[in-house]
Amino acid sequence: MAECRACLVYCMDFRLHESLANFFAEQKLDGDGADVIRIGGAIKSLAQPKEARDREFFLEQLNVAYELHGVRQFYLINHEDCGAYGLEDVIDSPEELATHREDLRVAKALIQDRFPDTEILTYFMRLSGTAEVVD
Ligand SMILES: [Zn+2]
Repeated sequence: MAECRACLVYCMDFRLHESLANFFAEQKLDGDGADVIRIGGAIKSLAQPKEARDREFFLEQLNVAYELHGVRQFYLINHEDCGAYGLEDVIDSPEELATHREDLRVAKALIQDRFPDTEILTYFMRLSGTAEVVD
């Protein structure tokens, strides 16, 4: 079975491509590889699903990485000025960060419950490219 260390979940937003490439390198994920799941809004459909099946679909995708590739580390990365959150009036504010912090906390708890033997790392990525740990 082909294995990799981690699975990264982040937004489809085109503005993140370069920052994410740098993040991969910083986390030493470009060498041993990682699964990638890109969804508009990143973890929003897990933390605040429009419908229950959205949450199930999200968890099923994580399960593929878990079962098929032996992933035991999940990186959840939300980002500044994410269109899915509609917080464009409060970009770079404590309110924006608090919203993402809360969703990341909820998502982490759900994933930890489903996959107890995994490590879950949560980040908030700025459009400038910096990624800060959020917990
Ligand atoms: Zn986004």
